Amino acid sequence: MTETSAKLVIRNIGLILTGKIEAPIADGDCVVCVDGRISAFGFEKDLDTDGADTVVDAKGVTLSPGLIDSHVHPVVGDYTPRQQQLHWIDSTLHGGVTTMISAGEVHMPGRPNDPVGTVAMAIAAQRWYENLRPSGVKVHAGAPLLQKGLEEDHFRQMGEAGVRFIGEVGLGTVKDGTTANKMVGWARKYGMQSTIHTGGPSIPGSGLIDADMVIETGTDVIGHINGGHSALPDDQIINLCECCTSAFEIVHNGNERAAVLTLNTARELDKLDQVILGTDGPAGSGVQPLGILRMVAMLSAFGGVDAATAFCFATGNTARQRSLDVGLLEGGYAADFVLMDQAQHAPGATMLESVELGNLPGVGMTIIDGVVRSTRSRNTPPAMRLPEVVA
Ligand SMILES: [Zn+2]
Repeated sequence: MTETSAKLVIRNIGLILTGKIEAPIADGDCVVCVDGRISAFGFEKDLDTDGADTVVDAKGVTLSPGLIDSHVHPVVGDYTPRQQQLHWIDSTLHGGVTTMISAGEVHMPGRPNDPVGTVAMAIAAQRWYENLRPSGVKVHAGAPLLQKGLEEDHFRQMGEAGVRFIGEVGLGTVKDGTTANKMVGWARKYGMQSTIHTGGPSIPGSGLIDADMVIETGTDVIGHINGGHSALPDDQIINLCECCTSAFEIVHNGNERAAVLTLNTARELDKLDQVILGTDGPAGSGVQPLGILRMVAMLSAFGGVDAATAFCFATGNTARQRSLDVGLLEGGYAADFVLMDQAQHAPGATMLESVELGNLPGVGMTIIDGVVRSTRSRNTPPAMRLPEVVA
């Protein structure tokens, strides 16, 4: 299933973003990848670029690790029944996203809520996205909801079968912090990460999860800390930022004001490394092919962080919080990239400055596992310059 290029050289890069919040920009103009992994980066004159199977001339544009969407609700293949939409994952690839993490396949029609059905669907969903990556996008799915009646042995079975994430706590039948905390502990014991639906109900049938419940449950990620869509009161969001060492996930389909509050609080607390981004699509708000880029631009423009740092929220921060081998410019990490440039006629002296002014960049190419997956985006504003495959 996994297709890789034996040797890929990306040369003539104008700016290299690393995904590392401690050093978001690297010196250099070239990245070399072997067998789908990053092998070296820096200045072309210092690197071994001989014998490349694929050469990309970046034409001076910016290279970033491929963007990660920490919060999606896939169901099967590249189709979502939630908005009856085809090819939403391919569209999102055109927004620079190369990895997605399921927060639960909640929109599956007829979804089972009993324990054995929950286990079966989690394992099946993990498999069908492992076996078929829509347009090459890595979708980490098979994220079971916490349902009444699940026992430790169910989590053992799922963990041993390769299930790595549980879906948003609160969307299943388990609604109390004590039971949720016990199950999150079992999930963790068998290698699964956890997240929670923070804030008011998303749709009829879901419920409120307040800061006390988030803290009692103790998930690894505070899912949509800015609400999905209804946010908690400010004092509770600030309280979560102060108390928690888990990831603060800010989503596109949440409350933008609460997103900026979270970012400002995290910055004041010196906890920007805990900020990660998602879309929470498909959902009632639809799907957002450019949602992650829009969050980067919005937070950079209104949250007082430079654009290079804001890109880390969508790449390296998520990779570190989620223990993924993507999202960082680092030897051995997956050769997943997005190449982008300032959008035509967008104000600002550089791509980063245009983002800081609230504009989206234009995506010119995506690469996954060293293979070019898309060229000029059909969804972003057109970029000033476009990278090209030259060999
Ligand atoms: Zn939610």
